[in-house]
Amino acid sequence: MKKRIIALVTLVLLLAAILIPVAYAAKCSHSWEWKTEREPTCYKTGLRREHCSKQGCTATRLSRSIATKPHNWSDYTTEREPTCQLQGLKKRHCTNPGCIQTESQAIPRVQHNFQFVQIKTQPTCTKPGKMEYKCTWCPMHDYPEIPALQHNYSNGKCTRCGEPQK
Ligand SMILES: [Zn+2]
Ligand SMILES: [Zn+2]
Ligand SMILES: [Zn+2]
Ligand SMILES: [Zn+2]
Repeated sequence: MKKRIIALVTLVLLLAAILIPVAYAAKCSHSWEWKTEREPTCYKTGLRREHCSKQGCTATRLSRSIATKPHNWSDYTTEREPTCQLQGLKKRHCTNPGCIQTESQAIPRVQHNFQFVQIKTQPTCTKPGKMEYKCTWCPMHDYPEIPALQHNYSNGKCTRCGEPQK
């Protein structure tokens, strides 16, 4: 007899536990409020949903996704300085939390720093000469041409090479 009463009471309590919130929810005049459930990241959309803001009510309504964030780039830092032989490299990274995206860009080579060494070949009246320049930073040489001098005639002859004037 007692067992049956206990069972009955348990059943009533159980039903009440199920039915009371349903009844409560049914009579709640919901007050909708958007809540962000998941913040968007650079890779994944976020999510927001309308929740009833009234106490004890867990009803939800519409949900919308929030667009992914654009990367938020740091300033470039130089990874490798350029030289006259090699391009340099600079890098930047996304500063948004959880994002590991990086971007690198080449830094153009710098010009050789040529310095005059010597006149390698003297020019003659008819043949161009050559100068020698060397880069102070690398083994690169440059040999710019010195134009031929042209004959310097005087009294029907070249004063430099003796070539008779035609
Ligand atoms: Zn509600
Ligand atoms: Zn990012
Ligand atoms: Zn150089
Ligand atoms: Zn000459």
